[in-house]
Amino acid sequence: MLEPMTGSSNPQKNPPKAVNVGPWSFGGSQLQVIAGPCSVESKEQLLTIARSVRQSGATILRGGIHKMRTNPNSFQGLGDSGLPIVSDVKKELGLPVVCEITDPRQIEGFLEHVDFFQVGSRNMYNYALLKELGTIDRPILLKRGFSALIEEWVSAADYIRQGGNQNVVLCERGIRSFEKITRNTLDLAAVTWVKQNTDLPIVVDPSHATGIPSLIPALSLAAIAAGADGLIIEVHHQPEKALSDGHQALTLEAFQELMLEIKRVAPIFNRQLEAHLHV
Ligand code: PEP
Ligand code: MN
Repeated sequence: MLEPMTGSSNPQKNPPKAVNVGPWSFGGSQLQVIAGPCSVESKEQLLTIARSVRQSGATILRGGIHKMRTNPNSFQGLGDSGLPIVSDVKKELGLPVVCEITDPRQIEGFLEHVDFFQVGSRNMYNYALLKELGTIDRPILLKRGFSALIEEWVSAADYIRQGGNQNVVLCERGIRSFEKITRNTLDLAAVTWVKQNTDLPIVVDPSHATGIPSLIPALSLAAIAAGADGLIIEVHHQPEKALSDGHQALTLEAFQELMLEIKRVAPIFNRQLEAHLHV
């Protein structure tokens, strides 16, 4: 059984907490769709993808610069030298950005350029990092460890919140199971449970949860039905040339189609997509 935890998870939960990222809010009636490449590869790449996903209605741009790859010989990201790229693209398009932070020593550089700090699945148990992120006021996107219990994940959020930073959004990105066809197993029950039992907003990452682009649209809609406050989706203009996770990226066109479908379905669940679909 869950022990009552400060703020985040208890039987008489606090009212849902809204977390703001730039002009947008997670946890209200508005759905936030975060989209972009797995990795930032160049300014041209990020700008091309950002322009298109913004036009399709994404409200936040994603793009990793520090990548936690399983194989040390795989592309590790541009590192901090990617920060000016992220900054330029964000200024040019007015889209807030989320980047994964993998080490407390990156915090200072990130504070200048990044609106939303992502803690990746592999770092959900990195309490030194979580404690440091508790001392700043920037919103944190806390991904679920791929073998983490819901209770451990909510406790990880408490590590951040107990330091004073209340701005945590959870992200269900699939857990490891015996199944091998999909990259992970999307735990939609966890999404509904989090909404019913904690005050934290939550988004779903159907890209890492499935690893299969054709499954992403249906699971995105299912995530909305389960109560998710938003989605984070990998999109690439040339998936076959991507330096990481190209196999699971939606094309620009597939993402646009999905956004039209989300716009159609969201009101059934009392949700709206944010404005600039029409800009
Ligand atoms: C990512 O978002 O690109 C990523 C590495 O995700 P995760 O930490 O969920 O594996
Ligand atoms: Mn990825």
